Amino acid sequence: MSDGSTLQGGVAARNEVYGRCLRASNAGGAIRDRLYDSRATMEVVDQMAEGSAATGSRRDRLVDLYREAADCTRCPLAETRTKVVFGSGNADADLMFVGEAPGAEEDRQGLPFVGRAGALLTELLGDVGLSREEVWICNVLKCRPPGNRDPQPLEVESCSPYLERQIQLIEPRVVATLGNFATRLLTGARAPISRVRGTPQVHTLAGRPVFLMPLFHPAAALRTPSLVETLREDMARLPDLLREPLPEGAARESATAAAIAGTAPADPDADQLGLFG
Ligand code: URA
Repeated sequence: MSDGSTLQGGVAARNEVYGRCLRASNAGGAIRDRLYDSRATMEVVDQMAEGSAATGSRRDRLVDLYREAADCTRCPLAETRTKVVFGSGNADADLMFVGEAPGAEEDRQGLPFVGRAGALLTELLGDVGLSREEVWICNVLKCRPPGNRDPQPLEVESCSPYLERQIQLIEPRVVATLGNFATRLLTGARAPISRVRGTPQVHTLAGRPVFLMPLFHPAAALRTPSLVETLREDMARLPDLLREPLPEGAARESATAAAIAGTAPADPDADQLGLFG
């Protein structure tokens, strides 16, 4: 991530976020002072700091991972991105949202879900009493595919260690996958989102049991307004799900090559492949 691009676009909005974050995060100032070396880093790190003052080491490890991602050249998207979109929110979040890949606005700002789909996600979160600052929001890919084309297998394979580490570090209880792409990848099953949405599944992701809640992608809901209500209803299940005890010994899933490559398992709906088995 270059400092030169930091001031492109959305300056007023980012300054507002800055002010809010700086006001909210009065602990750990020395640590952050040491860590910051760019305005963009400060912005993302402060978003991680909100509401998680007690967990410095977890946040620090997430910051380290962010720094690694910010310089990533593992796949050709490094050449076309403006900014790496690592994720934002609370390093202690119990609830993580995983979308597909950054779009144009996300690429400009370096923050996930800040375009129209993001505004809908923020609104629907508010409807169930949650804020963006309480959850973690990220994507499978941390860089924008040019022209918003579908992620390629090499890109997913190169980028998935970042998502895996985010899950390991944040330890969410519930992972809400937004849309077909993230849902298929993380469940390892080919069932379309229209079939599986709204019903929680138990998975082992990054070695940890989680409730995985498949949801329509907010961008799909913007294209087909009747889906907004369905998405709203499905999201209304999240607060209860967050209170549910996780079952002991969630299913162990095996290797991920087929899921990453997008090849279907023998039973198209089988829960047998996980991204981070
Ligand atoms: N769509 C996504 O999948 N992710 C974003 O961050 C924005 C739009």
